[in-house]
Amino acid sequence: MDEINEVVEIPFAERKYLKENNFKTMKFFVYFLPFLIIFTYLCAITFNTHLKKKSSNISNIENIKNIDSSILGHLPYEEINNEDLVFIEPHIWVHKDMSDALLKMRKEAKKDGVNLIFLSGYRSIKLQEEIFYSLKSLRNQNASERARVSAPPGYSEHSTGFAIDIGDGSDRATDFEVNFENTSAFKWLNDNAARFHFRLSFNRDHKNVDYEPWHWRYEGSIEALKIFEASNRELKNATNLIN
Ligand SMILES: [Zn+2]
Repeated sequence: MDEINEVVEIPFAERKYLKENNFKTMKFFVYFLPFLIIFTYLCAITFNTHLKKKSSNISNIENIKNIDSSILGHLPYEEINNEDLVFIEPHIWVHKDMSDALLKMRKEAKKDGVNLIFLSGYRSIKLQEEIFYSLKSLRNQNASERARVSAPPGYSEHSTGFAIDIGDGSDRATDFEVNFENTSAFKWLNDNAARFHFRLSFNRDHKNVDYEPWHWRYEGSIEALKIFEASNRELKNATNLIN
């Protein structure tokens, strides 16, 4: 019995050094962590600034390229292939990708009592040449004055088949006039055209071309978006400058 009740010292593992080591590691991290966070943050800022600089350089180069290829403030546009043109009505042909949206838009406007009429759709580069040079001589304007109201041949959105000039059937005196913006047709377009993927090409903020409330372009397909990408970038830059 005595043997059993004898107090025996049971050896146990010494944890003293291990605990001390853990404490040292924690202490090291507590002191070092803020520096690590600051260092990572600074690295991220430097990387981000570098990236921004690089991308703004790229977009500057692209802008210069676009400006270089433009004439009198108009960007170059290739002529659409004949097989991509569809007939809408006499004198109005447009790109096949845009015809459904255009006709649907006119139908919807009619439901609201608005009579949209199509004044000009696709124009060949040859026809644009006739327009640009004949009117230029008629109005005694030089090329840059003329370019504010008409695109030089090869530089018109109408050559792509994705542009349409629209008038108000109830107010034909406003055809191709700035006061078209006071018609119910324009007001309707302003409120609804985006639903059909149409946008105004030359708004009041455009720096090179006069305001054309009748001229709308289609941006409802990837092909159309690609064609107008450079122009949209210019519009965006102009808006950024204004802001
Ligand atoms: Zn036009």
